[in-house]
Amino acid sequence: MFRVILLVLLIPAFAAAQNKYGLQTTGLATYKASLKITPEKELVNLAKVAPDLVLEIGYATEKNFTGKKIYTLARAYVRKPVAAALIKAQAEFRKMGYGIKVYDAYRPYKATVKFYEEYHDTTYVASPYRGSRHNRGCALDMTIIDLKTGKELPMPTPWDAFDTQAWPAAVVSDPVIRKNRDLLIAVMERNGFTVYEHEWWHFDFNGWKNYEVMDIDFEELETN
Ligand SMILES: [Zn+2]
Repeated sequence: MFRVILLVLLIPAFAAAQNKYGLQTTGLATYKASLKITPEKELVNLAKVAPDLVLEIGYATEKNFTGKKIYTLARAYVRKPVAAALIKAQAEFRKMGYGIKVYDAYRPYKATVKFYEEYHDTTYVASPYRGSRHNRGCALDMTIIDLKTGKELPMPTPWDAFDTQAWPAAVVSDPVIRKNRDLLIAVMERNGFTVYEHEWWHFDFNGWKNYEVMDIDFEELETN
């Protein structure tokens, strides 16, 4: 009798753990518990740990491919080792007179679902069946700026352009633009990141596989 009750209780619990795309995501309670065992999994606020970074979080505005405001707060969170690697890259750029502008960092999983349902091509939008590396707190969309003027260095396309010119291997005729793009990629790759083959601005932290896909809102992160 007891076993039957237990089974009945367990079935809905298992069903709830997976979403409609069959992916298991980590919520706030599991994330908090994981920090006790692996504190390096902490999501840190880049505005606090690297205050010189410029944040222009596109999904907190309507200036993104959806034309809609996706995030309620303009925040850039990444896992602790990702922040450390980015700070190293930032120091390299600083020596050249350049700074970093971040367009997007950790992205709650529900935003990835929204993107996919809006735009089914998974070349530029992550599949909700696997989740995005942004959902793991291990990806950054970014560019470099001139520290004197604060202006972005010219790049082959704007951020979030679904265009083959955005591919890091694209042939770019303007030598200055090509040099800027290649410099961004070279410095980031020296510091533990890999550029995404379809977007010059997207960098995955090389240890991303060790971090779970999370579905925690910025508000939840900041009030708990
Ligand atoms: Zn990205």
